[in-house]
Amino acid sequence: MNDQPSDTAQSEPAEPEVDYLANNQYQPVGAQEVLAILHEAQTVAISGHVNPDGDALGSALALRDLLRAMGKKADVVLSEGCLAPELYDFLPDYTFVDSSSYHETPDLFVAVDVSTIKRLGKVQSLLDKAERTLAIDHHACFEGFTQYYYGDTAAPATASLIWEIIQASTVEPSLNMASYCYVAIMTDTGRFAFRNTDRSTFVDATEMVDIGVNPSEMSQLVYENKSLAALRLEALIIDRVSFSCEGRVAYSYILSNDLSSLGLERDATEQLPTILRSIKGVEVAVLFRDEIDEGVRVNLRSRSSYNVGLLARKFGGGGHAGAAGFTLELPLEEAISHVIDYLIEEHSASDGT
Ligand code: 5GP
Ligand code: MN
Repeated sequence: MNDQPSDTAQSEPAEPEVDYLANNQYQPVGAQEVLAILHEAQTVAISGHVNPDGDALGSALALRDLLRAMGKKADVVLSEGCLAPELYDFLPDYTFVDSSSYHETPDLFVAVDVSTIKRLGKVQSLLDKAERTLAIDHHACFEGFTQYYYGDTAAPATASLIWEIIQASTVEPSLNMASYCYVAIMTDTGRFAFRNTDRSTFVDATEMVDIGVNPSEMSQLVYENKSLAALRLEALIIDRVSFSCEGRVAYSYILSNDLSSLGLERDATEQLPTILRSIKGVEVAVLFRDEIDEGVRVNLRSRSSYNVGLLARKFGGGGHAGAAGFTLELPLEEAISHVIDYLIEEHSASDGT
């Protein structure tokens, strides 16, 4: 994936022939065209999805540093009120601008690790403000909310695509860029273990290690550096676990005040669905998270052939075969029975019972 020449002519990307907003169309571009688009911009706003995870954050930070190394003004913008998770505080220059305080008129807006406009939250307003818009993403079913789209649904993480762009540029990859991409790929592949892990994942990681990334240090900082409160949250969801479909589905929930009662000020839920999925015999894990005024967030993880991305799309969300999510505007108990009843029905149908 990263064997592009490091310095090739930058070509002017052609303007789209259609009104992409009216027609929900976009122009697919390659790494070189992305570089040309980046070159032409001066002020760039970058954003990942709401409730950002390691891939959204790492991809955005690495792209920010690439742009800054190219002499651009670049910032990572988070949707109003959205706080970056504590888990990644160790990352260098882990700094963001709240969308309510972002007063630039960027000539380029880049969405990373986002396949659908609603997952941009309040950052959506930058789509209209920016002269050009680009999405870099690895999700299935990109919904076409930007002018340009650089995507690869086979990529293990969006950071793999960002790394490819960095490698294709004339900028020397810095240790920080390598660290951001490494953490993004490590977390999106579950420490190089999920089904999306392939040869290219290790090739990219090797390049990052060559630059100075220490795999053991990165792993410890992400997976063995939890606050006691974050561990108590894990205990809480394990305590509340229920099973259905003959033990193949495990589900649990987080109440709106759980985080604050445990003294957690920022999101600490990213690894929780994977913990539920690690229970013996469980193939699909569902975590319901009641969020005041924002409905119930549903996080899904699968380790069998059951595709949770398809399930999430049925409920208006999206994601990958192994990790997906959606939001339900229902009270918690109704949301739980809505989803679990659906899974039970599907399970009975597939069993022929
Ligand atoms: P998570 O459960 O960690 O929030 O998300 C798992 C995967 O599904 C991520 O790749 C995430 O971007 C995607 N995802 C989660 N929620 C949604 C949603 O509401 N809509 C879409 N399209 N994708 C989602
Ligand atoms: Mn991702």
